[in-house]
Amino acid sequence: MLTNAYLQGVYQTVLNRNPGESEFHQAVLEVLESLEAYVEMHPEFETNGVIDALVEPERFICFRVPWVDDHGRQQINRGFRVQFNSAIGPYKGGLRFHPSVNSSIIKFLGFEQTFKNSLTTLPMGGGKGGSDFDPKGKSNTEILHFCQSFMTELYRHIGQFTDVPAGDIGVGAREVGYLFGQYKRITNRFDGGVITGKGISFGGSKGRTEATGYGVCYFTQELLACMKNDSFKDKIVVVSGSGNVATYAAEKATQLGATVVAMSDSDGYIYDPNGIRLDILKEIKQIRRARISEYVFQVPTAQYFEGCHGIWSVKCDIALPCATQNELNLDDAKKLIANGIQVLCEGANMPCTPDATAAFQEAGILFGPAKAANAGGVSVSGLEMSQNSQRLSWTFEEVDERLQGIMVGIFHAAYDASVACGKPGNLVLGANVAGFLKVAEAMIAQGVV
Ligand code: NDP
Repeated sequence: MLTNAYLQGVYQTVLNRNPGESEFHQAVLEVLESLEAYVEMHPEFETNGVIDALVEPERFICFRVPWVDDHGRQQINRGFRVQFNSAIGPYKGGLRFHPSVNSSIIKFLGFEQTFKNSLTTLPMGGGKGGSDFDPKGKSNTEILHFCQSFMTELYRHIGQFTDVPAGDIGVGAREVGYLFGQYKRITNRFDGGVITGKGISFGGSKGRTEATGYGVCYFTQELLACMKNDSFKDKIVVVSGSGNVATYAAEKATQLGATVVAMSDSDGYIYDPNGIRLDILKEIKQIRRARISEYVFQVPTAQYFEGCHGIWSVKCDIALPCATQNELNLDDAKKLIANGIQVLCEGANMPCTPDATAAFQEAGILFGPAKAANAGGVSVSGLEMSQNSQRLSWTFEEVDERLQGIMVGIFHAAYDASVACGKPGNLVLGANVAGFLKVAEAMIAQGVV
């Protein structure tokens, strides 16, 4: 709970201005709690207006997305883009297509993105967008028509020097391609730097697909080495989700010598004590876009269980929640702790509820927060923008090496800030403070506009 009167006032304003937006409230409260000790040491932050400005998006856009389905019926969805903070660069953040998307989810993601992008050391501000459109069960033609209609409004708000979207849940390479194609038709410009996550043949970066998942593991590897003198070798790992982040986190953890024994989708989870066969998983989820339950038809040693939370009862050394926000609650945390978990790093955005995070910290579990641990995706998006500006394409190895360097740097920035704040190893606090300081300095230098 907040004890500083000024920060209590900031938080109350957020509650009043954004009624009912619980995910956004949750994300703001976590950051304000982390800043409390710092603000008490630096009273100028009570008067310079930076924190008041930081919690208010620079711009929030909400629009109608009309499209026609395969039966000729008119459908209406709602589109969003939040341009949260441009202090250190153009707004940057992904687009999410999922029925749960609303203004609260978009603001929470845009707010967190501001700090995450600051931690990468690349010049990117914070933004996020999406729609309550549900891609599940839609034909390719329906996805195309939806993406074209979505971009028909979004195009006027974005640009390589203004706002650069990318993918997120429900928006992968196919959707980014359709969005870029429509942007090009409307503007008559091949403006490669307007969106990232593009196909390699038209300006995408090698390694972007793998970047978030690989980055989670590079961060975890550095955390293990520096805080535990340990590594992934021979560790049992549980990864929730089976989308982009989860798949490549599982792939890198396996390459680093761990055994990934469980993964999930929104219906249930699979348990395979021999280690999940990622070639089979990719064929099911990426190529056929089918359900994870089908894995057990091809791997007889594996088991499938209905429901999302059961995955946290699987005994493991390292957990990497890579599915969605608030997917791991206090009960789940208690089960993981009782089963001897040592490390948890967040691949998804805000996957642990606040009480689950607190339980891990109190139990001495090493905890890598999303803002730091999953920044690999946006980092390689930043590298994609650099390549587009240079009109060059770097090799996979070059991109991957830079990604490793960035993730190692993020760990140390968060760790060092935790030490400076007198809470060594509290990376939630460290990531928030380190991300905040760079944005705050830039905002002050620009007159807190
Ligand atoms: P995808 O759409 O590729 O995958 C999401 C996965 O999570 C799917 O397998 C989905 O299952 C599963 N899922 C959804 N809800 C649940 C649940 N309650 N329990 C278990 N599984 C669930 O998304 P991404 O992998 O791109 O994103 C995952 C998370 O990572 C999000 O929080 C996103 O914001 C974050 N992130 C993504 C980045 C990126 O580069 N893509 C960058 C940084 C963060 P189903 O197949 O049933 O839908």
